[in-house]
Amino acid sequence: MAPFVMNDLSRRYTNVEYAPVDISEYADGNIGIPYVWSYDSKQPGPHVMICGIMHGNEIAGAEILVRMLKNTVRPENGRITFCFGNPDAYARFDCAAPYLNRFIDADINRVWGPELEDPYNQGSEVRRARALRPIVDTVDYLLDIHTMQGRGRPVALIQGKTAALDLIANITSIPIVLTGTMHQAERLRLRDYAQFGDPDDKAVAIQLEAGQHWEASAIAQGELIAMDFLECVGVLPRQSKPRAQKQLHLEVVEIVLPKGGIFEYAKDFENGTFFPHRGALLGFSGPERVEVLTPIDNCYFIMPVHFRLDGGSCGRFARSIPGKVSA
Ligand SMILES: [Zn+2]
Repeated sequence: MAPFVMNDLSRRYTNVEYAPVDISEYADGNIGIPYVWSYDSKQPGPHVMICGIMHGNEIAGAEILVRMLKNTVRPENGRITFCFGNPDAYARFDCAAPYLNRFIDADINRVWGPELEDPYNQGSEVRRARALRPIVDTVDYLLDIHTMQGRGRPVALIQGKTAALDLIANITSIPIVLTGTMHQAERLRLRDYAQFGDPDDKAVAIQLEAGQHWEASAIAQGELIAMDFLECVGVLPRQSKPRAQKQLHLEVVEIVLPKGGIFEYAKDFENGTFFPHRGALLGFSGPERVEVLTPIDNCYFIMPVHFRLDGGSCGRFARSIPGKVSA
């Protein structure tokens, strides 16, 4: 049985449009770390990593990595490393209950702080993060491909430092960029780890939410953005620039935290839904069904959550950052 509070709307989000790709042939890796493949051009340039399936049930990331490996995407400058983040959780993916198996012992995207140094912590994800650490420590640009529960346009979550903002403005295939404090900010995510979290370091980590977890469109969207990313950081020659689109830069203004994990949306909202007016109804929180309203005019709703544990958020309200909307 699902450990989530499910309702009619969340059940509509459980359809899996594509089978998880077999990644067993990539188990050995080529640099001594399982499921990590690294290619060095022997030319000057940055070390770039593309990561997928940090969360075991976000299966689009595996498909994108396999496509890039099979298409022999290799650097002309610098080095590219392809990383299947959490293959053990991925191996447990179940199309009949796709919301499960995000991780085995702990969310691997929340263990990049003191957990790595704690000898008593031998959880599956902490051990995997320790194995990845030597290679992650040498990365200049990271694209960590995730997917999200809601439908809608892809969104990139980044640190608000200058190097990250400068880079992401060039990756025009990314329609929405979000900065600001997220839920459970006290637990370190990969995108905030070491060089990526240092405001004075030029290293940049982008956590991409490429689309809805189990809709096939997330694969194409993620692959397009991954190729654009590799060109923008200079390891691949610039091809025809993807159709330039308006990139929306947002910052979090409020995290929506329903009581007891109980929340009912007033409507089926997509990622990036825009509300022109303050006081618009998002949904009803907790057993008392308290109305949750947009806190500001010109408000965006980011990453609706449909499978929610007690204590989990059900999305974020955000506002656009003036002057950061690029053509
Ligand atoms: Zn994820």
